[in-house]
Amino acid sequence: MRTIEEQGYHFEEWITPEQIAKDVKQVAEQISADYKDKEPLFVIVLNGAFVFAADLIRALKDVRCEVTFIRVSSYWGMSSTGQLEFIVPLQQVVDQRDVIIVEDIVDTGLTIHQLKAHLRGLGANSVSVATMLFKPTKLEYDDARPDYVGHQISEEFVIGCGLDFDGFVRNLDAIYKVKDQPAK
Ligand code: 5GP
Repeated sequence: MRTIEEQGYHFEEWITPEQIAKDVKQVAEQISADYKDKEPLFVIVLNGAFVFAADLIRALKDVRCEVTFIRVSSYWGMSSTGQLEFIVPLQQVVDQRDVIIVEDIVDTGLTIHQLKAHLRGLGANSVSVATMLFKPTKLEYDDARPDYVGHQISEEFVIGCGLDFDGFVRNLDAIYKVKDQPAK
């Protein structure tokens, strides 16, 4: 099993690249079936979702779609600040559109809860959520339960495949979970 060290923390490989590829395929198949006759607008949540989104978008079959980006921030280090900040606001008109938010991970659901309200306020016809990872036992906002989930996980802090640790390690090709903390 592969392990890495980042800033004194040890992480071990948890979800392999092969499993992630299967997860992406399954989510893409579901979305392809559900949005066959629609023209969805994918809203990719930067920075973390860019890896999942790139794979997901290319795995869609027969879906005429557009892609745009938004950048929000609610997380620093290993704990949530509880505040959502729009760092890169939405550039695209979402009025009357069927929007699919693409996230790396849904944890408390705060980000999705606020984003959904934002997009509905801008007149979206429908808003659904596709996420690579979901921590169901941490969900605090019921309306943030994702519609399309690559992999459900427990409460561990994870990195890789777009997920960072203070900005780094997004490039890891697997999902790693934290193993132990640095000695004080
Ligand atoms: P939520 O708003 O659902 O609590 O958190 C969503 C955001 O928090 C994610 O987009 C991600 O940036 C960050 N996040 C939540 N859990 C983790 C985790 O286990 N690892 C990393 N790297 N980021 C996380």
